Amino acid sequence: MSDFDLLLDLHKPSYRQGPGGDDETRLALTLAGLLGQKSLKIADIGCGTGASTITLAKTFPDAEITAVDFLPEFLEELEQRAEAAGVLSKITTLAASMEALPFEPASLDVIWSEGAIYNIGFEAGIQDWRKFLKPGGILAVSELTWLTAERPVEIEEHWQREYPQVAMASEKIAQLETYGYRVEGYFPLPEHCWQENYYHSMQIQFENLLEKYDHSDSAKAIVAAEQAEISLYERFSDYFGYGFYIARKLGD
Ligand code: SAH
Repeated sequence: MSDFDLLLDLHKPSYRQGPGGDDETRLALTLAGLLGQKSLKIADIGCGTGASTITLAKTFPDAEITAVDFLPEFLEELEQRAEAAGVLSKITTLAASMEALPFEPASLDVIWSEGAIYNIGFEAGIQDWRKFLKPGGILAVSELTWLTAERPVEIEEHWQREYPQVAMASEKIAQLETYGYRVEGYFPLPEHCWQENYYHSMQIQFENLLEKYDHSDSAKAIVAAEQAEISLYERFSDYFGYGFYIARKLGD
């Protein structure tokens, strides 16, 4: 048993593996101007167990959706959930790294990615993935974002250490503009996307995890690390959150 198994056991039962919400997925779709569009080719990158993938599949009955994650265990769970929701036939799962995606150039209408682009880094991701979009295609990503120009030192130092690309929305938007996108919308995710939709469903797994692994040191360490993150969010949610960025690829 490794830390990896522990993390899988902790996160796989959750509806989401990061902050987000079905209403917020739909809001981003609205801002993108995608509602009502037909025959879209969509990739959901870092899809986890597929909360956003399933919302996309329900919203676009004739879309072709590729759900990409590097963890096959999450993709299996996604398939079961999609089947239960009656949308499995619209979804193809793909176990691949977001750093080496196998899509053809200019083949996608939409790249979706909730709570995952940080794994490649926002700046690298928006540059690297752009080639897969058709001109006029939509990139919709959520990303850790400072909500204020000034922050308490404790939270500033924490995120500078954990994710040095953390920045204000104005800076993220400027990056999108620099790398060939027109920004169609931005909104910060409301707090319930973190608390109810993400942390709460994780917290109810803590006891199961500790019991399953017989209160091992590594199980206790993982629970403690997650609890520390939750407490940072509770104390400092005025200063940071996730921003949802919706951008359109400009022609070359
Ligand atoms: N979009 C989902 C999951 C977010 S968690 C949701 O909002 O619930 C981030 C996801 O990215 C995880 O499922 C993780 O397995 C995946 N991931 C992390 N690094 C990756 C990489 N290099 N390539 C592909 N997927 C990756």
